[in-house]
Amino acid sequence: MTQAVSPRSRKVRVLATLGPASNSPEMIERLFDAGADAFRVNMSHGDQESKVPVIQAIRMLEKTRGRPTTILADLQGPKLRVGKFAEGKVLLETGSEFVLDRDATPGDATRVQLPHREIFEAAHADARLLLDDGKMVLRLLSASPDRLVTRVEVGGYLSNSKGLNVPDMVLPLAALTEKDRSDLAFAVDQNVDWIALSFVQRPEDLMEARRLIGGKAALLAKIEKPSAITRLEEIVEQCDGVMVARGDLGVELPPQSVPPLQKRIVETARRLGRPVIVATQMLESMIESPSPTRAEVSDVATAVYDGADAIMLSAESAAGKWPIESVTMMDSIADAVERDPAHGDRVHFTVTKPDPTTADALAESAKNIACTVSAAAIVCFTSSGSTARRIARERPTVPILVLTPRLETARRAGLLWGTHAVNTRDVGSFEEMVAKAKRMALRHNLAGAGDRIIVTAGVPFGTPGSTNVLHVVTIVGDELKNYEGREA
Ligand code: PGA
Ligand code: MN
Repeated sequence: MTQAVSPRSRKVRVLATLGPASNSPEMIERLFDAGADAFRVNMSHGDQESKVPVIQAIRMLEKTRGRPTTILADLQGPKLRVGKFAEGKVLLETGSEFVLDRDATPGDATRVQLPHREIFEAAHADARLLLDDGKMVLRLLSASPDRLVTRVEVGGYLSNSKGLNVPDMVLPLAALTEKDRSDLAFAVDQNVDWIALSFVQRPEDLMEARRLIGGKAALLAKIEKPSAITRLEEIVEQCDGVMVARGDLGVELPPQSVPPLQKRIVETARRLGRPVIVATQMLESMIESPSPTRAEVSDVATAVYDGADAIMLSAESAAGKWPIESVTMMDSIADAVERDPAHGDRVHFTVTKPDPTTADALAESAKNIACTVSAAAIVCFTSSGSTARRIARERPTVPILVLTPRLETARRAGLLWGTHAVNTRDVGSFEEMVAKAKRMALRHNLAGAGDRIIVTAGVPFGTPGSTNVLHVVTIVGDELKNYEGREA
């Protein structure tokens, strides 16, 4: 992985969900070329076996392109579903009564099985049950341990195994189902870089996952439950990254409460130095159409102006008719926003005060010095990636070149704002550090003759967690000629 690859010029990362429309090696390559920095493998659909060739194709692409590429495995979580119907689907008439019970007999227009004991325990009169992404609404009239009688407030067709949201109840549900545990073990075994947990309700939900992952992947919390909002800070602190999962969030809460929450989640994650992904329906109309609505373009732009680390495509790239066009469109929107002279000020609207640590003092200084001396790049030597995260948190105007001896650190950096990661051997001395920083900045087209670069590292070299050096280096003309050394 030493071949030079031109970094993306944009800072925000593009995360593309893979699925039937894009699982082939050819499509993955085309998505990457169109601008996808990271890929989401959705464990809610398909079995584990079907993910193996997909993951292999991404790793193969990483080899041929020489750029560490990020894989996020998304666990389904405790997604609630109704049972099945004798006729496959029924019409729920607005105003009629409908019963949810624990009887596995196929349902009809008067009743259906609800295979989740926890809902019967947490149910209380007046609570709402939202069906099929909120398309239908049931209001609870009475609850007993095996029977919920509801009134249909908003009717429609309900078919087999449709999703159910219960925003008015806090369920005593484990964050990890049996399926999630199996999928988590599979994801760890497949060496994915990030594992996402769905429907996180409390910070404790993350601890079990963290234990099972055992440091082999970074942990992402999907914020899609009102209960997660009430303990947002603690949840963000417990994970390595967060997703504003607007799909389920906008079902559990009224849609108009999603934009202020999106701003709050992005702001909180940035303040606490965790990468944050804005997800779902970003270019929804591109599932069917080769061009997006103006409102969607504006929505993507807003996430970029807010300084999110990554923007995500769901069905647009996984199951739509225009996966490549969707990535190209996201890339172009991000590019246009980042070229806007007002972009920097808007991103820095969120104030990220440094923690009182040496690493943060240097991260903030690196950003400031880069600006003062018009440096071309910040070059960051890091083992765990922690310094890269703290520098990215500062949202510097120049690219961050992350040099790391650990491949997993380089791969995880694919969700970090403004970084270009290279997996390369560690340096052993100050002179080597300076020489390598120059060489790599030149090789990856991040600097040229006469440019200054800011270098951060930890002394003694090879000791993780000790960033304590900041060095300003000028690249002189002669160095252009002989930078072509061998690099490992
Ligand atoms: P999902 O999560 O696509 O797995 O449901 C994202 C969301 O809910 O927005
Ligand atoms: Mn969701």
